[in-house]
Amino acid sequence: MVTDTARGGREGWVRFQHGSFDCVVVSDGMLEMGPAYDNFPGADPEAIARLLDRHYLPADRVRLNQNVLIIDTGNEVIMFDSGVGTAADWGRRRFGSGTGLVVANMRAAGIDPADIDIVAITHAHPDHLWGLVGDDDKRVFPNARVALSRADHDYFADASRVAGATDARQRDQFLGAQRNLGAYADSLLLLEDGAEIAVGVSAILTPGHSPGHVVYKITSLDETIICWGDLCHHEVLLLQQPRWNFALDLDRQAAVDERLRILEMVDKERCAVLAYHFPFPGLGHVISQGDGYGWLPLELPPRRPDAG
Ligand SMILES: [Zn+2]
Repeated sequence: MVTDTARGGREGWVRFQHGSFDCVVVSDGMLEMGPAYDNFPGADPEAIARLLDRHYLPADRVRLNQNVLIIDTGNEVIMFDSGVGTAADWGRRRFGSGTGLVVANMRAAGIDPADIDIVAITHAHPDHLWGLVGDDDKRVFPNARVALSRADHDYFADASRVAGATDARQRDQFLGAQRNLGAYADSLLLLEDGAEIAVGVSAILTPGHSPGHVVYKITSLDETIICWGDLCHHEVLLLQQPRWNFALDLDRQAAVDERLRILEMVDKERCAVLAYHFPFPGLGHVISQGDGYGWLPLELPPRRPDAG
């Protein structure tokens, strides 16, 4: 079995074309999530182990990628989610030193953080939001507006929730969200269901994982990608068993309902998917199989070495 090593791996970015949009996926690195049973509560541990083993994945060490999509529509450059950030006391302390790579990978792909016009956030959790500011609490993306749902903003930016947090993890979620969103207080786009943030780019409200989780619909020349954030965390477990729960879903039943709704939509409408936590670069299609779905990665053709 081929395994990764400290020296192995590939470049942390890849380009592709979507309709008339130039796109890049950059990786923010791998999240170490620990044993599978801790992440998918209520599921039969033997069924989890069987499914993972069949797909050459270890049950004692779930790792989730962070695929950050950046599109250039011709009018604006839009980035979807921002990774865990580089602050030593925040994201990287919790998620490990193999994370916080998004800016380095953007630069390697030829994109400067100052080029970003909009950071479109799927939801205000650490691995999606905390890359907005650096150690100095200043904006990493100096020219960007930040789009997120009004529901997530009102929930996570409410300072009174800090005192009522049920544990340290939840308290940090509120504090980290307030720290990151605070730096963009005069540049926020607060979204309702269906809001268009640019021509061809709109938000679909999918509450469950967070109060105002959204997926983004990105359409150009009749082709659509659904950029789905944390609608579905795992390319095997939550596609083949979409009714299972993920530990960090705030409202587990609503998260299942929204997952099923969007899965049915992308399957029926033959949309491509950009899945934040799937194997890099997280671009593919879902295919209905029995009671669930399978994952078909989209092939990205090799570039000519002399293509510049
Ligand atoms: Zn996530």
